Amino acid sequence: MRKYRTIKTLKRKNYKSNQDHKTFLEKSVIRCCTLITLGTVMITLSSCSENTPSEDSVKPTPTVTEIEATPTVTELEATTPISKTSFKLNTVVSITLYDSQDESIIDEAFQLCDYYENLLSRTKKESEIYKLNEEGHNSYTISDETKELLTAGFHYSQLSNGAFDLTLEPLTSLWNFGTKEARLPSQEEIEEALTHIGYQYLKIDGNTVTFDKEGMGVDLGAIAKGYIADKMKEFLISKGVNSAIINLGGNILCVGDKPDGSAFLVGIQKPFKDRNETIAVMEIRDLSVVSSGIYERFFTVDGKNYHHILNPATGYPYENDLTSVTIISKDSVDGDALSTTCFALGLEEGMKLINSLPDTYAVFITSDYELHYSDGFIENIKIVE
Ligand code: ADP
Ligand code: MG
Repeated sequence: MRKYRTIKTLKRKNYKSNQDHKTFLEKSVIRCCTLITLGTVMITLSSCSENTPSEDSVKPTPTVTEIEATPTVTELEATTPISKTSFKLNTVVSITLYDSQDESIIDEAFQLCDYYENLLSRTKKESEIYKLNEEGHNSYTISDETKELLTAGFHYSQLSNGAFDLTLEPLTSLWNFGTKEARLPSQEEIEEALTHIGYQYLKIDGNTVTFDKEGMGVDLGAIAKGYIADKMKEFLISKGVNSAIINLGGNILCVGDKPDGSAFLVGIQKPFKDRNETIAVMEIRDLSVVSSGIYERFFTVDGKNYHHILNPATGYPYENDLTSVTIISKDSVDGDALSTTCFALGLEEGMKLINSLPDTYAVFITSDYELHYSDGFIENIKIVE
């Protein structure tokens, strides 16, 4: 069996006791000029009846970024970063520019984000994906951009033999994670939904998409944020920005590095803890960092946690020993797809997949809080101690 690199050594060095661990984390946070903590909006639902989650209110969205220098342009000298935050893609989106003071660039990047959300959302009635899901059994023609993302989703579905499946919509619409309608469906509902799922029944021919089964639908939730982040990065670069951070609900994409040549510091959130509590802080230059985990969107029924990464074979959340997977890659669309895919595949299969891909690194966190690094991680990604 493959031996994974784990953080055991690091752990011994830095995490001698809980107290030491805390001190280490606190020091890391204080030392970081720019620390971005990964993770998407955690929505905890409860309210109790047998089949409903244990709360019916959605907790306020936590702040997702921890960037120290984010004052407004007017107060500052030209070298100070500018940052804006907005609620989009059902999460907190922020952009920080380090080498420009032009707020209109951020506004335009936000508009681009809206444009893609309106194209790719599974719930917005005007979106292409919504219309495809209504019409796909008769064939439906999509734009080049939607095709690009659909093709990527199809690729990862094939690569994982369906552990990642872009046609999960009948199931995700039942569970409705991340909304007030989130609930534990009945066994019958789940079984029924499963009969409409299967990426092999989705056909892409040019720009025409056809569902070969009734009731099928596409959900790009596991991959769209990465794709949109890549498009936003392209846009920023076209505007002459060479130093920036795009943060789509914890899906981080760095543009270059800081103007003084130092790296951005990106923290991996400690599972189930506040975003400022990091389990590792990395130096990142011009790369994407994306996590998928069981603590991002979940609810609890009768003391059992149900998280949002679903097994297309059973209809229920994956149950493995993982709490999160973080992927470091050039393009965020790949990082986003791979974080969900590797979570679905589990530690062993997921690690095998990452180790087979060039210039892609991962850290898997298991429920005992141990960190498992992919080949080349330690050599290529500096962990800040
Ligand atoms: P997040 O978007 O919260 O950062 P992920 O990128 O891991 O997290 O995507 C999770 C989303 O992907 C779910 O909310 C759902 O829409 C979709 N999804 C869940 N399970 C799967 C799966 N097995 N294959 C493909 N998509 C999935
Ligand atoms: Mg993903």
